[in-house]
Amino acid sequence: MKRSYINKKSDKQKAKDLRELPVKLEILRRAKGHCERCGAESKLPLYPLAVHHKKIGADREEIKSVEDGEALCIICHGKRHNLRLKFSKPMWGGKK
Ligand SMILES: [Zn+2]
Ligand SMILES: [Zn+2]
Repeated sequence: MKRSYINKKSDKQKAKDLRELPVKLEILRRAKGHCERCGAESKLPLYPLAVHHKKIGADREEIKSVEDGEALCIICHGKRHNLRLKFSKPMWGGKK
């Protein structure tokens, strides 16, 4: 039975996620549950903070250190992506 529809992530992506995980957790710990941009408190578990790569256009790049990323609330994260992807669909409603 094929499982490719269930898990679309490539092995490379999975390895990257695994490497990023401790860094992301450290960033979230630094944020202490508050957005690092607007200071809004995240309403867990409904609106968890997203760890976003600070470098413009580098969202798919690996977050290698806590300086590379920032913890953003769902609104700031959406804004960051809208600013960059002006003419494409906003992030609301889930994954691209
Ligand atoms: Zn925010
Ligand atoms: Zn992002």
